[in-house]
Amino acid sequence: MRRLRYLLSRFFFIAMGLSVTKWRKEVEALWALPETERLKKVENQLKVNRPLNACGDEVTSLTQLYESPPLSKKALREQRDSKGRSTRHWSFNRHTAGTTGEPTHITVNRIELGRMLGIRDYCFRHYGVKLGEREARLWGRPESGLTSRLKSAVMNRRIFHPVGSHAREEIVSMMEWQPDYIYGYSSLLLEAAKTLADTNFDFLPPKCVVCTAETILPAQKSYISRAFKAPVAEEYGSTEFDVIAFECADGHRHLVNPWLILDEHEGLVSDVSRATQHIIRYQLGDSFSIDKVSCRKIGSIDFIEQLHGRTSDRFFYITEREKIHATVFSKIIDGYTKKSNEAFIFSLVQSKYSELDVFISGVRESDVSDLEVYIEREINRIEGVRVDINVSLFSELKANKKRNYFTQNIIV
Ligand SMILES: [Zn+2]
Repeated sequence: MRRLRYLLSRFFFIAMGLSVTKWRKEVEALWALPETERLKKVENQLKVNRPLNACGDEVTSLTQLYESPPLSKKALREQRDSKGRSTRHWSFNRHTAGTTGEPTHITVNRIELGRMLGIRDYCFRHYGVKLGEREARLWGRPESGLTSRLKSAVMNRRIFHPVGSHAREEIVSMMEWQPDYIYGYSSLLLEAAKTLADTNFDFLPPKCVVCTAETILPAQKSYISRAFKAPVAEEYGSTEFDVIAFECADGHRHLVNPWLILDEHEGLVSDVSRATQHIIRYQLGDSFSIDKVSCRKIGSIDFIEQLHGRTSDRFFYITEREKIHATVFSKIIDGYTKKSNEAFIFSLVQSKYSELDVFISGVRESDVSDLEVYIEREINRIEGVRVDINVSLFSELKANKKRNYFTQNIIV
């Protein structure tokens, strides 16, 4: 039955004109090539595709691509309204409110969607999962409507909502359904892992747990892995590009889309394969750093070493002039999690200089002051600055689509 259901999903893909297998093989072949050979193929694709850059000039070589000016989200939106390439065939729309509050409209044709799914299939196979196998998805709110129900049916997916008074029943029914893999927001997976750890019952572990969309700390990942008795892979992606990086079993977030060119200095992403829209040096709005690794388990030898989240949320301000990297707080909280063996969901907000509001969920009230003292002491030790920490509990978990845990409210 399980196998039959998988085959049905794969049949749906083919019937919809989505060549998932073909593209997965293409991705495998491209990553098997030496870097110079792959870049030659990428350049050939540019010569055929001839995308326009932000100035409206054709880009037919990598040199031209690197020299192109950045393309803003606003410019991409306008391009779609005016000079966007026409799609003669039926197309798929991907839409999001976006992390910065600006809506992003992305149109992909069958080839492009097939390619995105092919990359997904390629990543999942690293953990022994094939796209179309039984997926349990943890999402912020229960999905309704015919379109999402149809989509779930095609994808062999069931949505679970592990929040509120029914959280426990929801997790139990999810595990009884025996999904091949679990996919969801990091905060929801963490919440589900806590519920699972508190509920004593036997279950068949999934092959893999994939966490997406929000920043997750190493200690949180290992907590989820222990609770589900399965490896945890972090996915980094966006509506515009789908999967950009995927974590291998050794913990590197390898770049996995062979047609994307990333510029870490300015946080720009280009897609040389895109035919429906021109996406050359697009300002994704995230800040990341890339490093190289000798590991060849999956995708590129380039991997995302640090993901800082939204560009505007990079720094914590001590004074108007003095600032520190906000990522230091995640390292401190990661250390606290390891020390106390407590996993909790948190978000950090700065509204005043030298003051940090920490909102946490799922921790004992008695630990609040302990955490305050710990962060204040550690930040002083590491950065040599005094920061006022205010920890408060929030009970209702809100899964937002923000990738970052830190929000900067001081307008600078
Ligand atoms: Zn690796």
